[in-house]
Parts: sequence; C-alpha cells; structure tokens
Amino acid sequence: MPLKTQEEFIASLRDGRNVYYNGERVTDVTTHPVLSIFVNHWSLIYKAKHDPKVKDIFVKRLDEYGEASAYFNIPRNADDLLARAKLIEATTAYCNGQFNIAQAIGTDALFALMSICSEVDKRYGTRYYQNVLRFYDRCVREDLAMAVAQTDVKGDRSKRPHEQDDPDAYVHIVERRSDGIVVRGAKVHTTGTQAVNEIIVLPTRNMLAEDRDYAVAFAIPANDKNVKIISRAQASKELGEFDYPMSVKATAQETLTVFDDVFVPNERIFLAGEYEYAGALARLFALWHRFTAISYKPPIGDQLLGAAALIAEYNGISKYPHVRSKIVKLIRYVETIRACIRAAAVEHKVYPAGIAVPNPVYVYIGKYHLADNFHDAAKTVQDLAGGLVITQPTTRDLENPETAKYIEKYLKTRHDVPAKNRLKVLNYIRDLTASTYTGGYNYVLSVHGEGSLEAQIISTYTEYDVDRCVRYVKSLLNIE
Ligand SMILES: Cc1cc2nc3c(=O)[nH]c(=O)nc-3n(C[C@H](O)[C@H](O)[C@H](O)COP(=O)(O)OP(=O)(O)OC[C@H]3O[C@@H](n4cnc5c(N)ncnc54)[C@H](O)[C@@H]3O)c2cc1C
Repeated sequence: MPLKTQEEFIASLRDGRNVYYNGERVTDVTTHPVLSIFVNHWSLIYKAKHDPKVKDIFVKRLDEYGEASAYFNIPRNADDLLARAKLIEATTAYCNGQFNIAQAIGTDALFALMSICSEVDKRYGTRYYQNVLRFYDRCVREDLAMAVAQTDVKGDRSKRPHEQDDPDAYVHIVERRSDGIVVRGAKVHTTGTQAVNEIIVLPTRNMLAEDRDYAVAFAIPANDKNVKIISRAQASKELGEFDYPMSVKATAQETLTVFDDVFVPNERIFLAGEYEYAGALARLFALWHRFTAISYKPPIGDQLLGAAALIAEYNGISKYPHVRSKIVKLIRYVETIRACIRAAAVEHKVYPAGIAVPNPVYVYIGKYHLADNFHDAAKTVQDLAGGLVITQPTTRDLENPETAKYIEKYLKTRHDVPAKNRLKVLNYIRDLTASTYTGGYNYVLSVHGEGSLEAQIISTYTEYDVDRCVRYVKSLLNIE
C-alpha cells in the first residue's frame, strides 16, 4: 500500500545526502540537533495519514493505487480543488499552525508539468508527458516527499539568463548525451530540500531562443552525489517551548541548492531546450503553488485572530469598540483569503491532460491580499497585546521561587487568569509576530514566498479581462 508511516519517512532521509548546516556537513539530518526539528515537522503529514482523527482528509482511494496520499489526487473539477484546499489547510492546522508543503509543492509541479508537457510533446514529438506520468507513479507508490527548486539565483535582475556575467546564474544544460543531460547552476530558497526524497527542478521565467539551454525541467533524488544542499539556520531546541511555543517545533526550512554538474537520465527529463514553453511552465506552476499558498494561510490567520481575541480578554479590553473593530479587521483578513480559495476552485478551467486548474485572478488576488496585509494583521495583534510581548521575563524566572511570586502577582491582570496563562499567550504572540524565527520568517514568507508582490500584480493584470470593462463603459456612453 502506498502509505508510508512517519518512521518510514524519517528513515528514508538517512541516505547520504549532501546537507550543510552552519558551516558543517551533516551526516544524518534526522538526528541533527536543529534540523531534526524540521524533519519532525515535515514528517507530520505521514503521521496524519495514520491518525484516525484526520485520516479521511489526508488519505484518498485512487484508481490503480488503492489508499494513497490525498495530495496525489489529480483535480478534475471544483470539488476536487476544494478538497485539495481543505487538505492543505488541514495540514497547516495539524502541523501546529505552520505550513508544511512536503507533498503539496511537488504535486503543484506535477500537475503543471502534466498540462504543459502534453502540449510540448504534441509540438515536438518528445516523450516528456510519459516521463512525468512515470515519475508521478513512483511518487504515489512510494509516497514520496518532494521539494521544488524553481527560483534561480538570477544574478543581475535586469538581464536574461544568457546575458549574465556568470553563465551559471540560472540552472542550465552544460552537456547533452545520448542517455541524458548534465546540468549546472543553483536554485535558492528551496523549501524542504533537507527532508524530501526528490527535487523537481523547473524554469523560473520565460526564455528566448538564446536561453534555450536554460529551459530545463527534471527530477533528481535529493541524495544525488552532485547535489549540494546548503541549509538556512533556524531556532534550536535549547530555546524552550514556553518561551518559543511555535519555533521549537513548527518550522519550515529552505536551502541554497547547488547542481554541481548533475547527470539527469533521459527518463527524468521534463523539458530540455523547448524554450517557448519555459514561461508557460513557470507560470502554471506558480498558479498551482499560489493556490497552495492561499490554502495554507488561513490557519495562520486563525492563530492571529485567536491570539488577539484571547489576549484582549485576558487584558480586560474585549468590550471596547476599537478592540472589536480590530478583531473584525482580522476576521476580514482571514475570511477574504477563504473566499478567494472558494472562488478560485469554483471558477476553475480545465487544462490539457484534463486537469482542473484554479482560477488565476482569484488566486493572485488572494495571494496579494495575504501578503500585503500580513504585517498589518500582525501589528493589530501586537497592538492589543501590549509591550509585554517583548519585555516579559522568561520561563526560568517563573521557575525561580524568588522571582516567580512577583511575576505571578504583578503580571496578572484578573483573579481568574493566572499570570502564567497570560505569559503563555504573550510568548505565543511574540513567537508568531516578533521572533526572528517564526515571526520574522512569516513576514518575509508572506511577501516573497510563491512570488513577490509585483509578480501577483503582473499576473493579475495579464489574466484579467480589462477590455470587458472598457467595452461596458463604451456601451454606456454610446461610443462605437
Ligand atoms: C520562505 C520562502 C520560501 C520559498 N520557497 C521556495 C521554494 O520552495 N521553491 C522555489 O523555487 N522558490 C521558493 N521561494 C522563492 C520565492 O518565490 C522568491 O523569493 C520570490 O519569487 C522573489 O524572488 P527573489 O527572492 O529572488 O527576489 P527578487 O526577484 O530579487 O525580488 C526583489 C525585488 O526585486 C524586484 N524585481 C526582481 N526582478 C525584477 C525585474 N526584472 N524587474 C523589475 N523588478 C524586479 C521584485 O519585484 C522585488 O520587489 C521561497 C521564498 C521564501 C522567502
């Protein structure tokens, strides 16, 4: 049966992969004192599939495969898209409120590849679509976790790939052999590479004929000897759960992913020089992945909303009109995202290979809204919480009887709320909105993850039928 257990998934990561953390080579990511936090976080989706409380969301019976990860269900209609959004939202909620895309981002890429490769094959007689299906089949059967490395390091942003000072600023083909290709370059910000089985590599932008060798897409095992995975740093377990309730257990991870002359066999290639399709593939993946983004965000909005309402209650300010208006602002923030998810699923279009693709306009509006207003939502929570979010004593002071009695007396707001509970909520708000780890990370994730603000604007403008409105105004004014 294609359903790995949490333990089997963790064991699959002990495969000699080349991971570097804070200047040192990591021999085993699963036992590393810091990376193991992330491994555990990423492995939770495997736990969920065996958890009777949520199994019906995470597991789906698929033709040919029987019970499999619901992430691999290829959407064919609005209901499938809504079920996928629910699955992604449930994943964040299950994973202590932090996103987990161990199987979401890979399937986003596979769905985009299925649609685009079937078109490339029709035009060029290539066999990419079969390659994608074969790879998909393996991923389902072995219940694999995938990272997607799309964002190139990009060098000078004003130049195209072939114009860069360093020809390796975008991943490209350096050798073509009868049995495959050799690729060189590096992708940046790749989420999850330390703890996945496969890396799917996609182009990051449109290409011209001169960029032909940069129009490349393929899959490679994360333990390929020429793939170097350089990790970002994150919070350590030493911080303690009381002080950093989110960061000590719920954290995603990114890498600089280097392809140091990596050989890719023919059957793992999805695009190799068909430059006219690089932009379409980049955009379609981005659309899928932004649908994932708007789907994983609501539980983070729920956390901001819940924390704001709870601390307002503990501080005795819930009844004041300005507080209610701020709570409503947070309701608007999160429910606008949920409304975009529904609209995007219902107003989908069917693409080549018979795949139902979310409506781009609602996806991009939702993604822009969540990114542009995240800091403001966090500010609202900080506003209601007060300055103790960053000035309160630590767990150790609460454990020391000499200081505990003062903390319990002076940092209490009401007789029915122990100081410890108030501090718990304040620490949670700090971690969520003001710590370097989860808070700072979520700010930048909102702005840049799944594409910058500007990328959402350009995509919305491109997809929206502005002419329809121009025609309407002309008709009202009797202009031919
Ligand atoms: C937490 C996190 C997780 C991520 N996970 C992944 C992942 O798993 N896989 C993956 O492939 N990527 C991932 N990304 C990458 C993400 O998609 C990029 O960060 C985003 O597309 C912005 O690219 P950049 O970081 O290179 O910034 P830049 O592209 O350098 O953007 C910086 C600024 O420059 C502007 N700019 C850039 N180029 C131009 C231009 N030509 N003309 C005008 N203005 C320009 C942008 O609009 C922006 O304002 C992740 C990012 C983050 C922060």
